[in-house]
Amino acid sequence: MSAQGSETPAPFRVGLTGGIASGKTTVADTLGELGATVIDTDVIAREVVAPGQPALAEIRHRFGDAIVGTDGTLDRRQLREIVFADPDARQNLEAILHPRIRYETLRQADSAGGPYQVIVVPLLTGSELAAAMDRILVVDCDEETQIQRLLDRDAESVEQARRILAAQASRSERLAIADDVIDNSGTLTALREATVAIHRQYLEQAREHENG
Ligand code: ATP
Repeated sequence: MSAQGSETPAPFRVGLTGGIASGKTTVADTLGELGATVIDTDVIAREVVAPGQPALAEIRHRFGDAIVGTDGTLDRRQLREIVFADPDARQNLEAILHPRIRYETLRQADSAGGPYQVIVVPLLTGSELAAAMDRILVVDCDEETQIQRLLDRDAESVEQARRILAAQASRSERLAIADDVIDNSGTLTALREATVAIHRQYLEQAREHENG
């Protein structure tokens, strides 16, 4: 699937997902370093709400002028708090953002090239973007490890870390959509080794994909 629906086959695409603090960015950075084209939908999610973008006007219309700061940028923290507490608001926001993120992701991917592409989608479970991927790679670790890494990084408390985890797809929901799994319960060195191995697999599969 491509954004333009063109006849040229899309490049081999890997959807990279995983729970919060599971190690997605570390894996994506390594794959990028090894030569894959990496597209991060978190970056695109910020681009589509930049000042002047239609999505920002729609968000302002739905959530009120106070959601946009005096400098014209979206108050993401306030918006996060609103949708965390209100499922309808969350649905409204997703209806504004998701189609645009999807379109823009595929548009950028269509013109990006590379031996194969890695599209980082933190919430790939249940996303229509999953259908655009040739493989789905899940970076997996147990919840206690996720919580520990969150606490090491930025969560204020174990309770807050657990709330963040509870709001995401569960580990088993993620694993259910996986073609490939990288276990990130060990060291960073072990993670790198597993990532190098999966890179070789994807280079091979991308060649097969190209040869039809
Ligand atoms: P987020 O969902 O918040 O974007 P992420 O899934 O992209 O997170 P990373 O940012 O790659 O995860 O990793 C989260 C934190 O855990 C980082 O500080 C990273 O350095 C650390 N980390 C990842 N894997 C390991 C590991 N195997 N051992 C120790 N620390 C790790």
